[in-house]
Amino acid sequence: MSLKKETLLVQTGNDRDEPLGAVNTPIYLSAPYRHQNIGLSNGYDYIRTGNPTRDVLERAIAELENGDRGFACSSGMSAIQLAFSLFKTGDHIIASRDLYGGSYRIFEWFSTNYQIQFSFWNPENEIIDKLIQTNTKAIFIETPTNPLMRETDLQILSEFARENGLLMIVDNTFYTPIIQRPIEMGADIVIHSATKYLGGHNDVLAGLVISGNEEISTKLSENHNTCGAVLGPFDSWLLIRGMKTLALRMRQHEENAKKIYSYLKQHQLAITVHYPGKGGMVSFEIANEACVSPFLRSLKIFTFAEILGGVESLITYPATQTHADIPEETRQSYGLSNRFLRISVGIEHAEDLISDLEQAFHCLEKDGLAPSTKVKGGGQVESVR
Ligand SMILES: *Cc1c(COP(=O)(O)O)cnc(C)c1O
Repeated sequence: MSLKKETLLVQTGNDRDEPLGAVNTPIYLSAPYRHQNIGLSNGYDYIRTGNPTRDVLERAIAELENGDRGFACSSGMSAIQLAFSLFKTGDHIIASRDLYGGSYRIFEWFSTNYQIQFSFWNPENEIIDKLIQTNTKAIFIETPTNPLMRETDLQILSEFARENGLLMIVDNTFYTPIIQRPIEMGADIVIHSATKYLGGHNDVLAGLVISGNEEISTKLSENHNTCGAVLGPFDSWLLIRGMKTLALRMRQHEENAKKIYSYLKQHQLAITVHYPGKGGMVSFEIANEACVSPFLRSLKIFTFAEILGGVESLITYPATQTHADIPEETRQSYGLSNRFLRISVGIEHAEDLISDLEQAFHCLEKDGLAPSTKVKGGGQVESVR
């Protein structure tokens, strides 16, 4: 029976064969497993190699992404590192220009210390063909990008990757398998910072890698155990618990994000507003850089913090937070200015969220930091409520 994603998520870990009938996945903290004799194992030997709680999570994410196998890692960064364990010195990778700052940082590190080369691709104004070299091994892409929210057609890109014998790796943190399943569109590997939407409650650091075929699974499985950045049993359980409500949460994140987008789009103090029409992330440029700090301080419901994907509404200033490791000149060159704010729309009531933004914009006007609010193109703002 092929189940819908909502059902799979909710039923994760509710195992009919569990000996005591536990409806909720037990947390197996035992590091070793007893062997009855030499060469005898019940499938579990040592906690890094395999853990029953982590297995439940890994099977669930593999099924959700329609992949072959899942690998739970100690963070999103270690998930990226696991994927990159497939490459070696001298390999060349093409990566999205607009990228999570931590991914950019680890790529710099791979490049400096291990001589893995990177070319950064801006789909807005560059043709990818030109970036291919004889040693190119993979494409690493975020779609939508962080924080400019630009989408790339995965179907077309994975065809291109296949024709050129490249692996296609997709960071699916922003959309989650509820909105986008890259393996169905031809990707070979999906990675997640599960710290974000999959966990959803700002209480666990975790990463996931999903392989699209058995050959990749075999290599990743070996490297996962060899390098050892695996997710612990308790964190695996927290992630399973968070994921049960993923479908519900994503629906509400998206509904609220659409309303926030409409509100910001007509606001004179939001110069550019970015929303790809799906998911819960909205970003915008505020009227001027001097407005950034007072705006952040005036917000009462949105939390100014360096994260996304939790049930709570969050706001991030990429220039000094998530993207601080990208040189300013590079950032500016692709549109990530110092006026840029990124919102992770939570699942609170949308009206409260819009009121909060509204009063923060009013504070700017009151303090003379910005002209008084008008609808873009003239006339007074009409309340969206
Ligand atoms: C946060 C994030 C990461 C890194 O994940 P951690 O769980 O913080 O290690 C990678 N990619 C994207 C898109 C992210 O937002």
